[in-house]
Amino acid sequence: MKLDTSPIAAIATAPGRGGIGVVRASGKNLGPLIETLFPGAKLAPRHATYIPFTSASGEVIDQGIALYFKAPHSYTGEDVLELQGHGGPVVLQMLLARVLEAGMASGLRLAEPGEFTRRAYLNDKLDLAQAEAVADLIDASTEAAARSASQSLSGAFSQVVHKLVDQTINLRMLVEATLDFPEEEIDFLEKSDARGQLAAIVESLDHVFRQAAQGALLREGLNVVLVGQPNVGKSSLLNALAGSDVAIVTPIAGTTRDKVTETIQIEGIPLNIIDTAGIRTVDEGIDVVERIGIERTWGEVGKADVILHLLDASLGPSRADEEIVAAFPANVPVVCIWNKIDLSGHRPAVEPAEDATYIYLSAHEKLGIDLLRKELLRIAGWQQTGESLYLARERHLIALRSARRHLDVAAEHAAQNDQSLDLFAEELRLAQDQLSSITGEFTPDDLLGVIFSRFCIGK
Ligand code: GDP
Ligand code: ZN
Repeated sequence: MKLDTSPIAAIATAPGRGGIGVVRASGKNLGPLIETLFPGAKLAPRHATYIPFTSASGEVIDQGIALYFKAPHSYTGEDVLELQGHGGPVVLQMLLARVLEAGMASGLRLAEPGEFTRRAYLNDKLDLAQAEAVADLIDASTEAAARSASQSLSGAFSQVVHKLVDQTINLRMLVEATLDFPEEEIDFLEKSDARGQLAAIVESLDHVFRQAAQGALLREGLNVVLVGQPNVGKSSLLNALAGSDVAIVTPIAGTTRDKVTETIQIEGIPLNIIDTAGIRTVDEGIDVVERIGIERTWGEVGKADVILHLLDASLGPSRADEEIVAAFPANVPVVCIWNKIDLSGHRPAVEPAEDATYIYLSAHEKLGIDLLRKELLRIAGWQQTGESLYLARERHLIALRSARRHLDVAAEHAAQNDQSLDLFAEELRLAQDQLSSITGEFTPDDLLGVIFSRFCIGK
């Protein structure tokens, strides 16, 4: 992403038709652009002005609301102009083209993905974790995820991270002050309760980590692969879990040929479920389409967070099932589901075992579905804490984990009284850098580029 600060513009609303569509521009000084677009009109900052949007030749493109936010009181911290017109793709394109043309003299160009939010970050309107939360709020796939993204956007996550940074800085200052007086080093750890302070930081960090890790689940969800012989009830189970008819249920074997991905939610955690075309091992007598389906299925199994292996409780396992089980990747947890207990006479039950958890249920009669839901939550590592969660990203978790490791090493240095204190101080500094990278006070430029390029244009 370029770092140039020329004025930018883009359509800010989603593609497609809608009641209202917004073209947004941002730049250090949008005065000349506004004068070109609306000659003679004085747009008062933060006031809605109903005004015709006209082409260079004076032809009316649309009528709408012009909103002018004077720097620094805007989303980006620069001058911002919003034109709210009718939300049709063609009229918005015409409006955008007009804005670009009118701003050509002042170097106005089309915004790159995430550039508005990047400017907000660079102008200290948002920190990095908040900027990421903007994208996460827009992309949230469940209500719980949206609520957590809002938490992070409001700065709640950044605040707890800041607090950790401050605690770490305080301890560092204490240590570094002592470094200048080598004769006092020996007593320092005792006198200052440095170990106690360090333990307190570690405790707060662990707490933040738990909330962030739970929040990350809301963002990432769980990848679930549903495997089993044709007709065993995979589609029925998917429907029972989802509570709606998302997959085709039919009594003819082998009808679910293409994989069906459906996102359902359990307690706000998105489950990305892939219903597979039966997972027979490839042998003769099957057609090409089926062969491709089977190979693709094996590809999905390797990437899953959990495998749901469905079996027919009224029939028992087939040879094919035994082959399938033998081929499961060793590191992916397996839930072995005995379906159709209404036919076999079993009761709904969960039986943990070494190789897999066994669950008896009926997809069709909706018996025991809750047992499966609970097991999936357990595998996801979900704990109901009742606390508000931060919709953390993998990047944040890695930084927190890494900070924790540096604090652990610092604690080891502190435990050995003969060790020089500068190693202790150095680990604290490294922990602080990790924590600061979350809010972006200490973040390499290339990482910024990656983060903002994942936004879509207009954000
Ligand atoms: P798939 O090929 O594995 O996706 O299986 P389907 O979900 O399409 O189900 C195959 C047939 O088994 C359908 O007729 C379902 O109604 C039936 N079926 C699925 N689950 C149950 C169950 O729990 N009990 C009974 N009796 N029939 C079921
Ligand atoms: Zn099916």
